[in-house]
Amino acid sequence: MSSFTGTQQKCKACEKTVYPVELLSADGVSYHKSCFKCTHCKSRLQLSRYSSMEGVLYCKPHYEQLFKESGSFTKNFQSPAKPAEKSSPELV
Ligand SMILES: [Zn+2]
Ligand SMILES: [Zn+2]
Repeated sequence: MSSFTGTQQKCKACEKTVYPVELLSADGVSYHKSCFKCTHCKSRLQLSRYSSMEGVLYCKPHYEQLFKESGSFTKNFQSPAKPAEKSSPELV
């Protein structure tokens, strides 16, 4: 389609193309600036203060609230059945 493929970034949150002017890169993962917010309360996040679970973004308080109090926090990070490594099936 376009001759500019190859360097296009996709937003991890909405999976649409991110153009440089709206690109926000967190730990090597690209987001729209407008998508870099807590999924739960929709508040804007800062690069120094955010958490993500499988590409879904949360503010620190909600991340701890949702995953620690539910008990799945411990499960997700310490389950011996599943390796902790992230897989990136759509990484191109
Ligand atoms: Zn986005
Ligand atoms: Zn929140």
